Amino acid sequence: MSNSLYVHQRFLLMTLDPLHIGTGGYRLGRVDLSIVREPGTNLPKVPGTSLSGAIRQYAAMRYEKMGCAGQKGCGQAACPICYTFGSAKDSGGGYAGAVSLFDARLLLFPVHSLAGPVWVTSPAALADFGVNGQSVANDKARWPQSLTTQKHLNLGWLMLECESKDWSPPPIQNVPPEVQNRVVLVSDKLFSQIVNSNLEVRTSVSIDPHTGAAAEGALFTYEALPRATFLWFDVVEDDYRKGFPKNDIAQSPLDVVKSGLALAEYLGIGGMGTRGFGRVKHWEVNHAQS
Ligand SMILES: [Zn+2]
Repeated sequence: MSNSLYVHQRFLLMTLDPLHIGTGGYRLGRVDLSIVREPGTNLPKVPGTSLSGAIRQYAAMRYEKMGCAGQKGCGQAACPICYTFGSAKDSGGGYAGAVSLFDARLLLFPVHSLAGPVWVTSPAALADFGVNGQSVANDKARWPQSLTTQKHLNLGWLMLECESKDWSPPPIQNVPPEVQNRVVLVSDKLFSQIVNSNLEVRTSVSIDPHTGAAAEGALFTYEALPRATFLWFDVVEDDYRKGFPKNDIAQSPLDVVKSGLALAEYLGIGGMGTRGFGRVKHWEVNHAQS
């Protein structure tokens, strides 16, 4: 899916730690710090703006140009960071970047079951990623018989009946076999319910910055995507200026994105980074499947 104007690259992500991408709001519902969700499906997602912000920051680290980590940048034509992500000058004269990063969407969500850990997905979640043709009844589930030959499987608190003994998970590019073999298919409606009732919810204390001690009465709860959640997102490169300043790290704006994304495996994205949150592993998905 590339021509002279646009290059499209899809990435698969796996969380190595819990991932908290906050809404910026407080005390919404049962947790103090909730995560961002898709309005239509209520599934958690990672907004493209959050990805872009983190990836720009890490790319700037790679180039040792921390002044270009923010949206203003240096604005110079020869700067790979500003060329890629754009430059917003107060005085005018800014310019748009050469890449668009789209929201990361949920593909496989880990849940505990009596048969061990399983990864839940749904027909729509798979189809959005490019794996078509899956279906399942609203109140049932499909799983490979290697997981369990029982007629029922619990997903957290929910007990579901097996719809077909002849089902095996469709191949999902880059997903490790030990995950692939433990995929459970549920309906789109149940998927959202299962995900939302199996998010990590933790309680923590606020630290008073002046005393370094726990602030009194400052317990708060926050939710997060658990470790080993799989998401995917698209990057579209539109190199409309045709003048990318090539260098040792990157031959194109898309390479700059990849250089930043590589550091997210060590430094993490989203909030609670100081609590060991947010590291993500990534794979490039080739276009045969997308
Ligand atoms: Zn710059």
